[in-house]
Amino acid sequence: TGKWIATPKRTKEILEKYGFSFKKSLGQNFIIDTNILNHIIQKAGIDKRKGVVEIGPGIGALTEQLAVNADKVVAYEIDQRLFPVLEDTLAAYDNVQVIHQDILEANVTDMMEAHFKPGQPIHVVANLPYYITTPILMKLLRENLPVTSFTVMIQKEVAERMAAAPNNKRYGSLSIAVQYYTEAEVIMNVPKSVFMPPPNVDSSVLKLTRRENAPVQVVDESFFFDLVKACFAQRRKTLRNNLIRHFKASLDNQTVSNGLQQAGIDEARRGESLNMEEFAVLANTFYNLIE
Ligand code: SAM
Repeated sequence: TGKWIATPKRTKEILEKYGFSFKKSLGQNFIIDTNILNHIIQKAGIDKRKGVVEIGPGIGALTEQLAVNADKVVAYEIDQRLFPVLEDTLAAYDNVQVIHQDILEANVTDMMEAHFKPGQPIHVVANLPYYITTPILMKLLRENLPVTSFTVMIQKEVAERMAAAPNNKRYGSLSIAVQYYTEAEVIMNVPKSVFMPPPNVDSSVLKLTRRENAPVQVVDESFFFDLVKACFAQRRKTLRNNLIRHFKASLDNQTVSNGLQQAGIDEARRGESLNMEEFAVLANTFYNLIE
């Protein structure tokens, strides 16, 4: 079927028609496989009741499949060369709105209020530009948007870091940051051959399901996230050494040891062995010591 955008034939035709050349700097790798897109859409739980926010529609490959399956799609695209292309390729779909804006600059909360029905379940579905995957996801998570889930194609290694459990070599401060807001799951790995041009890195689809409540109680979120980062600053060093470094301006070595003892955490352990609950206890304990 030469009908869908997400086929090699139709994609080449569109690129030729507009004399479009890919910009590596914008992470432009377009999907040319409709089956992969439908699998992603199904895993995301999209149906005709749902609103969808897409980041980076490209020439509209995923946008089109979302338009067919969802109630409404709003897509943010930064590359102005793509605006006339999208107007053409998505002309048949009256439930798609393309916003010409850098997602990192966008007020997504206001957009959602303006474009979706009150109380409508909203999902983020995207084949993200890989050069800014983490900034995009962290922006959307921190803003506490009323989004049910995020299903995104990203670099495989980053997906594994975001979904990693303690004692995994990929576990780190990014795992904690993402899992504080969501439950993270790698849905599938995707071959390079479904993209035009094929990316240099391997890709996976990551699904993040927003939590109703924070999984741990922390007194001060930024203090908590900073402490977690510090515990992974030198992965091979003990918690004690990393924390001495982190608090060197405010706590002496003995106080750091006492704090670890007070938190009930062996100072010889390494950051990668602590679960989120333990990090929360540690952060809350040191927060009180600093006061
Ligand atoms: N969704 C299309 C697909 O799957 O074929 C294209 C995905 S491509 C990996 C990433 C898209 O994000 C490109 O169209 C690129 O121009 C766009 N993009 C890059 N940086 C962006 C930003 N800061 N804000 C919005 N879109 C961006």
